[in-house]
Amino acid sequence: MTLGEFDIIARYFAGHDRGRDVLLGVGDDAAVLDVRAGHKLVVAMDTIVAGVHFPAETAPEHIGYRALAVNLSDLAAMGAEPAWMTLSLSLPQPEEAWLSGFAAGLFELAERHEVVLVGGDIVRGPLVATVQVAGWVEADAWLTRSGAKPGDMLMVSGVPGEAAAGLAVIRNAISDREAAPLRERFLRPQPRVSLGRRLRTIAHAAMDVSDGLIGDLEKLCTASGCSARLDVERLPRSAPMRKLFDERTCLEYALTGGDDYELIFAVPPERVATLTNGADAGVPLTVIGRFVEGQGVQCLRDGRPWRLERSGYDHFAAG
Ligand code: ADP
Ligand code: MG
Repeated sequence: MTLGEFDIIARYFAGHDRGRDVLLGVGDDAAVLDVRAGHKLVVAMDTIVAGVHFPAETAPEHIGYRALAVNLSDLAAMGAEPAWMTLSLSLPQPEEAWLSGFAAGLFELAERHEVVLVGGDIVRGPLVATVQVAGWVEADAWLTRSGAKPGDMLMVSGVPGEAAAGLAVIRNAISDREAAPLRERFLRPQPRVSLGRRLRTIAHAAMDVSDGLIGDLEKLCTASGCSARLDVERLPRSAPMRKLFDERTCLEYALTGGDDYELIFAVPPERVATLTNGADAGVPLTVIGRFVEGQGVQCLRDGRPWRLERSGYDHFAAG
């Protein structure tokens, strides 16, 4: 190893630890953080592994970005405001170009959301990045998966399926003009932190979609003790996806494709207009169904029971 652990920390990861509530950051045996009165601390952790969560040849900027993005998405789903993170990095070799790329991607997103890095660890091993984030939510209420009620509308942010389409574009080296925005959606997911903050007082339940819309919606239904009817024809359309993939593939990506990091949420019907009126122009919010008594997820197309052709659905469900 040309670069020692101390050099790596000093060169790439120290100095991003100054923020509100940080009493002691990187460099001691542990960080010391202040606690905010009237708030609850929300903590999440996610690990990404080369070859499992991203193609091994992914640029280091995108890996650093993703390691934090997947975590911020979890805090968004809780309605929390992110504040700090810690990072555990396992690296086959400490290469300077790789480390500076990784740090650039990580801190680009961290600065956008004002998250500071207060500690971590570095070990030699296969390429694995674990980030833990913590943030604040007002003491009265935070969002969970378990609050959806029959009668609530089922809504989704963004355009589910675009990340899976982006991964297909990368794997098949598709270079059409329409491929660029899809690739971007896979490589640089936008955690819906400000949406989560708004939903905190509007939605009954929320969850981020990382493993496919239907599968994650099933988890939300189980946690809430109710069922969802998903109207397939109401799913937001993606012009680039429709240009590059046939309709069946688009639906498969929208319903079962992973890595979107959008939010699904349950909203009482009378609050839907408030929510969509104040929506961020770049992030569509769409009603795609509703919650009913029962269990599990039922897909409908133009009001009639409908299911994805078995082969595609099973292929993804097995993964
Ligand atoms: P120790 O062996 O005493 O735990 P380390 O050498 O592991 O100390 O860490 C020294 C300091 O550097 C600690 O404050 C730790 O949190 C921080 N640190 C280590 N790795 C990272 C990293 N990848 N990112 C940010 N801080 C780190
Ligand atoms: Mg240590």
